[in-house]
Amino acid sequence: TTNRSVEDIRRDFPILSRQVHGKRLVFLDSAASSQKPAVVIEALDQYYRTYNANVHRGVYEISEEATEAVERARLKIARFIHARQSKQVIFTRNTTESINLVAYSWGGEHIQQGDLIVLTEMEHHSNLVPWQLLAQRTGARLEFVPVNEEGLLRLDVYEQLLQQKPKLVAFAHMSNVLGTINPVKEMVAQAHAVGAITLVDGAQSVPHMTVDVQDLDADFYCFSGHKMLGPTGIGVLYGKRPLLESMTPFMGGGSMIRTVKLHESTWADLPHKFEAGTPAIAEAIGLGVAVDYLNELGMEWVRQHEKALTAYALKRLSAIPGLTIYGPKDVEQRGGVLSFTLDGVHPHDLASILDMEVGVAVRAGHHCAQPLMDRYNIPATARASFYVYNDERDVDTLAEGLQKAQEIFQATAGL
Ligand code: PMP
Repeated sequence: TTNRSVEDIRRDFPILSRQVHGKRLVFLDSAASSQKPAVVIEALDQYYRTYNANVHRGVYEISEEATEAVERARLKIARFIHARQSKQVIFTRNTTESINLVAYSWGGEHIQQGDLIVLTEMEHHSNLVPWQLLAQRTGARLEFVPVNEEGLLRLDVYEQLLQQKPKLVAFAHMSNVLGTINPVKEMVAQAHAVGAITLVDGAQSVPHMTVDVQDLDADFYCFSGHKMLGPTGIGVLYGKRPLLESMTPFMGGGSMIRTVKLHESTWADLPHKFEAGTPAIAEAIGLGVAVDYLNELGMEWVRQHEKALTAYALKRLSAIPGLTIYGPKDVEQRGGVLSFTLDGVHPHDLASILDMEVGVAVRAGHHCAQPLMDRYNIPATARASFYVYNDERDVDTLAEGLQKAQEIFQATAGL
């Protein structure tokens, strides 16, 4: 793990030296999309400048270089999540596409009328809507594990739902709203004990902690490159080999076939079977470089750093009167995502004031988790999220901004 200071790490991220509204940019929205280190930006530039060519086709030098670079990136990503083989890493556009791929390919073959799919109340829309669509197509049923007041899953209800023998259980490793880290390994084992297939949405976990897909034993595991220092437009579906091999592809086209006749075709081997068309070449290479960068910091360090920062933020922000923080208070049970509301200030106004007054970028809204907002009876929250380039100074600026917002609103309320 690294012994570099955050101040030093920040210098790797060109965007962090810019200003917004004449103030230092304090970027606290990495849960939506992270910033990129110069090495990632340079990898994209170098690909387009020096070996830009389509992959898996050309027999000429630069095409071979591009192909090798993409396959090297796949191997790095496979190692990063401790997959047994790199062919279990399917490149997609993002978490959303990975989940849809499973819902169409696996779901289309295995889910029938009356079958049960178990999800949770804390899912991002991308791990909810694809299953709603599948349920509508097939007549399957959806049931949800509720979230308690503290933001933890009701595992007692989960166990009851498992007794109804679901075909599939899908849930987030870490909530993008509450920060809750779910007990994936135990939940997967319990699901397997009743014969269910499991899909884990790792969009918020892979960027922030060590993930070992073999140890967790999930059948499918999905994540996005852009939240882990990589480019947009590249994501991953990891799957167990027998499952991936038995599935019919989601999309047809070039690159995913072995033979094509006018009326029928046969499929290429994994992973190409699921990668129809020209892939996101530069982006895959860039994600490989992002993984190198994270490995250099060390994922243990990343997790420890965010835990310490979250503990500091929980302490600092809970001293602000009228501020409500959602999700677990114990940093062992949560990641660096803090959703909050401030009495008398709408989250959107709050986010605007933070931007204008102190240069703090936070998200405001339902965070693509409308059912979770309904659960807490709130229309929206503001959300601050941390990553490797954030430090206590950022949290202090956030706290200052919140106090300022309160003053502004109290002043106008008194008019
Ligand atoms: N799941 C979770 C938990 C997320 O936080 C996000 C991104 N906000 C997604 C899925 C969707 O990721 P993407 O938009 O990259 O597909």
